[in-house]
Amino acid sequence: MPVADSLLSVEGVCKSFGATEVLADFDLALNAGEMLSLLGPSGCGKTTLLRLIAGLEQADRGRVVLDGTAVDGDGAWSRPEDRQVGMVFQDWALFPHLDVAGNVGYGVPRRQRTAEVSKTLEMVNLPRTQDRMPDTLSGGQQQRVALARAIAPKPKVLLLDEPFSNLDAALRREVRTEVRELLQEAEITAVFVTHDREEALALGDRVAVMNAGRIVQEGSPSEVYRQPANPWVAGFVGGVSMYPASAAGNVAHADFGAIPLLKPDQGAVEVAVRPENVDLLPDGNRAATHIVERLEFQGADSMVTVANSAGVRLQARVSGTQSIKPGDRVLPVFSGSPATAFARSDAD
Ligand code: ATP
Repeated sequence: MPVADSLLSVEGVCKSFGATEVLADFDLALNAGEMLSLLGPSGCGKTTLLRLIAGLEQADRGRVVLDGTAVDGDGAWSRPEDRQVGMVFQDWALFPHLDVAGNVGYGVPRRQRTAEVSKTLEMVNLPRTQDRMPDTLSGGQQQRVALARAIAPKPKVLLLDEPFSNLDAALRREVRTEVRELLQEAEITAVFVTHDREEALALGDRVAVMNAGRIVQEGSPSEVYRQPANPWVAGFVGGVSMYPASAAGNVAHADFGAIPLLKPDQGAVEVAVRPENVDLLPDGNRAATHIVERLEFQGADSMVTVANSAGVRLQARVSGTQSIKPGDRVLPVFSGSPATAFARSDAD
């Protein structure tokens, strides 16, 4: 279906390689200035989708519309160089034989090149690096040059395919925050592909969760985290325990106590319980229901796995200073904002 006012829309796109159907009737719409995170497991078709938008692949069926013009489908076809779509790849793919100015100015018309290169390098916080060769730059700096190269020609849409995966964890966090601020300031419309849930939630105004060639849920980062569409999404976007309970309106009763629900429900359910919403009370005067099976120290906090007498497990994220050890008897207490429940049969 055409989507009014979208800067980019992918409408009913199908794409197969041989007998493998990679995208099945795929729809996506993006507004100007919006940043969409596309999150999905390896092989679900994320890169193929970006390649289709960029014009590096052609759809078998359906349309890709960019700024009101069909660039693929319905007999239309625009070459990649005519689409004004920028792309930042996983390996950054800088031209090793060109200096920074040569890389960043690559797609910019000659007359504007010098000014545009220096402006864009200022933007990515690499001023006066025009003469440096890529192999003399750190990983984080090379990544910023790749970003500068993609945005210097002023693309309508910027596509980023796992752009931070070559950076170490600390640098990755730093660079992604910078990139988000930069894209927001410049009001750049972007699709950002990742299989890292933390990155997807941190970077996107909106997150589309993808599996096996389809979008299974789309929403704000907090929506997909707090109101997952199904148990698979719940587990894919964050740590979760699917815990059996009996729903009665806005509350589900589990063996350890009550869990407030986002939406009223009745009967046998499984509640998506996030570990940060579970406190563990040590066995005092109250009856403990669970035994600590495992404890993983993670610095500021610890991930604790507890199980009831039937072996049903629940995870809790507790402060790293709380003294808990395997074998302790504890009472879990739900302490977070209301949770999402699924009918027991859905949760198989
Ligand atoms: P990852 O996160 O691992 O990069 P992805 O979600 O980006 O994965 P794609 O690269 O889009 O997934 O690949 C989706 C499927 O299509 C995979 O099974 C892949 O092997 C297949 N595929 C992609 N390109 C081709 C091609 N040119 N020829 C044949 N099969 C392909």
